[in-house]
Amino acid sequence: MTNSKPGRVYLVGAGPGDPGLLTLKARDCLAEADVVVYDYLANPVFLDFACEEAERVYVGKKGGCHTRTQEEINRLLVDLALAGRTVTRLKGGDPFVFGRGGEEAEALAEAGIPFEVVPGVTSAVAVPAYAGIPLTHRDLTATVAFVTGHEDPTKETSSIHWDRLATGVGTLVFLMGVGNLPLIAEQLMTHGRSGLTPTAVIRRGTTAEQRTVTGPLKDIARIVQNAGLKPPAVIVVGEVVSLRDTLSWFENRPLFGLRIVVTRAREQASGFLARLAELGAECIQFPTIQVVPPEAWEPLDEAIRGLKAYAWLLFTSVNGVRYFFERLAAQEKDARFLGGIRIGAIGPATAEALERRGIRPDLVPAEYRAEAVVDALGKENMTGLRVLLPRAEKAREVLPRELEKMGASVDVVPAYRTVKPDRDVSRVRGLLEQGAIDVITFTSSSTVTNFVEMFAGKEEALREWMRHTRVACIGPITARTAEQQGFSVDVMPDSYTIEALTEAVIQHAAGASAEKAP
Ligand code: SAH
Repeated sequence: MTNSKPGRVYLVGAGPGDPGLLTLKARDCLAEADVVVYDYLANPVFLDFACEEAERVYVGKKGGCHTRTQEEINRLLVDLALAGRTVTRLKGGDPFVFGRGGEEAEALAEAGIPFEVVPGVTSAVAVPAYAGIPLTHRDLTATVAFVTGHEDPTKETSSIHWDRLATGVGTLVFLMGVGNLPLIAEQLMTHGRSGLTPTAVIRRGTTAEQRTVTGPLKDIARIVQNAGLKPPAVIVVGEVVSLRDTLSWFENRPLFGLRIVVTRAREQASGFLARLAELGAECIQFPTIQVVPPEAWEPLDEAIRGLKAYAWLLFTSVNGVRYFFERLAAQEKDARFLGGIRIGAIGPATAEALERRGIRPDLVPAEYRAEAVVDALGKENMTGLRVLLPRAEKAREVLPRELEKMGASVDVVPAYRTVKPDRDVSRVRGLLEQGAIDVITFTSSSTVTNFVEMFAGKEEALREWMRHTRVACIGPITARTAEQQGFSVDVMPDSYTIEALTEAVIQHAAGASAEKAP
């Protein structure tokens, strides 16, 4: 299928791993692509920015074992574009820094294919930065060189002028150099660089797996070997490495090194994810519940029409608030229609959702559970009062039952439903299998039961994998559900909020990191 108009090729840098270091333009190019052609990526989440229908072609490059030759990749890009397709060629770091992006661009130029280059955050700069090493510093060095460590430094025809490099440049950054580190260090020292020069080797920088070792140039090869540090890593040689002692910001954050799975519904997870990421965790968003409208709106619509008959309106979740107000608006009513009715919120997030809509709840219990709402209302005389409870279609019966015991007449109307999303579990499953997930967070019983159902047929294996992962539950009911599924619960806060759960994860990380088998 040859089209008269060739497609465009974007040569895009994906950055070194931290998804936050993907550029806005890179994200746009992914969204626009008919085909994404990618290498081994430090973080596969980038592929989620492409349309679902976009074709994804892996041309794998990992530590030298290429699944396709560079010529084949060049040819592929040209052919795809000639077929009229928009191609995003995604490469680690920056495409023009040791990425062979130059050769791909040449092939495209030669074939007359329109292309654009979207620079990426190169690991040569970002990885040292995440290790607390500025590549230049007024007091220490004014020059930096990026050097390939791939070339055998002993070969006669080396294109690297070791003599000039060793003493002519302040900071030296080697990529692809772990294998040749002994030779690199030797060349530099032979050509006049002091063996005492501070040196750092940083593996998988900008990710939860970042690991840094440092030492004087003369010893670094041995130190790296003893530490068992493997590629990919960036090597930094120069006085600036010593700044790491005071500037190591990334590795010092409370949740550094933890990969945390968040099972909350997508609609509600953003605050939690942002907070965990800010504390240094690498988060995997894996919603096991999805919030959708109820089977029918009629019960809620009917209740809203008759709202004036209620003394109390109780909200048990942000979703309940959201859908209630949506239906209120659908009847062309607004917050004024709630005048005179007393309003309660089960917890601070629900209260905040109300406040955003101009409502200050009359009741927010000190503890955030249905039982606590009952306690708080216990002080009121509820006899004969009508209470409206717009909430999930399936929910715990404690609240309505207790309210009825207090003499109230309770109408429970479905405002939304939670369902199990139909999604690919392979990435999370792979990580679980490798023991590469440190913590899984569950924020309701249904996040647990759906999680297990998403691994249907693999329950036994799942229970085994979960032994290598810490389980964090928001409260005792969620924890009980997790235990019923055969998981041991490691983290549970005293009060049942996301803030408290986050705090409990921090405490746990600080205290008991080596509790479970690796
Ligand atoms: N174009 C890429 C570099 C490709 S060469 C860029 O601009 O970053 C591959 C080398 O990059 C690896 O051998 C390693 O030296 C380095 N590298 C890439 N990502 C890295 C990371 N997250 N941590 C450490 N080194 C990394």
